[in-house]
Amino acid sequence: LIRFDHVTKRFGSNTVLDELDFSVESGKHVTLIGPSGSGKTTILRLLMTLAKPDEGTITVAGDKLFPAPEKQVREVRKKIGMVFQQFNLFPNMSVLRNITEAPVTVLGMSKDEAEARARELLDMVGLADKCDARPTQLSGGQQQRVAIARALAMRPQVLLLDEVTSALDPELVAGVLDVLRDIARTTDITMLCVTHEMNFARDISDQVLMFDSGRVIESGVPEKIFNDPEKDRTREFLSAVL
Ligand code: ATP
Repeated sequence: LIRFDHVTKRFGSNTVLDELDFSVESGKHVTLIGPSGSGKTTILRLLMTLAKPDEGTITVAGDKLFPAPEKQVREVRKKIGMVFQQFNLFPNMSVLRNITEAPVTVLGMSKDEAEARARELLDMVGLADKCDARPTQLSGGQQQRVAIARALAMRPQVLLLDEVTSALDPELVAGVLDVLRDIARTTDITMLCVTHEMNFARDISDQVLMFDSGRVIESGVPEKIFNDPEKDRTREFLSAVL
């Protein structure tokens, strides 16, 4: 479903992604791990078209996302949803409106349909009673669950998760991860996660990709990567974070 071919991204003289090749099959849950600065977040930002590669091609569901004409980029981009570390909710809108805004304005969904869907999603993330609240009235964990519902409201084929629990107080992390585990188990959405939560990665991933210096240095099923990695670099990284 997602394919990176020889993707290079530089910031000035800093080569963050170095002729990166990888792919993610439809419906799979893939986790990116690796040291800080190894380019994991940059990969998600390229998929969200928040940044552009310098070289290479990115394909999503058979269509080029890069390089591609603007109109095609907009269409491909609709297939992808993202949840950020900082929840990025619209502070002056109710929880319900945060979720219905994009389906109505971008997908042209009727307000009634968008609201019905938003209520279903809020129920799924355990916040059915918070429709009318403002984001500032919610805990960080609740805000992040709204952000997850908001991403899913666009019915994306791919959900990108960028360290979605790292801004949360420790006691709020489990609730958010439980919601994501549920989504992984009960939907066929393709997930690409950057996380430092290794137990979560172990639970939900079909495949783990270990990054270092802008390349995938090792990949495999979680049992293999976490219990019996091949590369010393992977072993070192895991012993520092586990
Ligand atoms: P972390 O786990 O710390 O988020 P990461 O693996 O996600 O790390 P990236 O955020 O992708 O790493 O960053 C990779 C490198 O690119 C870093 O050296 C970072 O400083 C640099 N970088 C990222 N965004 C920019 C930018 N907009 N301008 C300049 N340099 C950037």
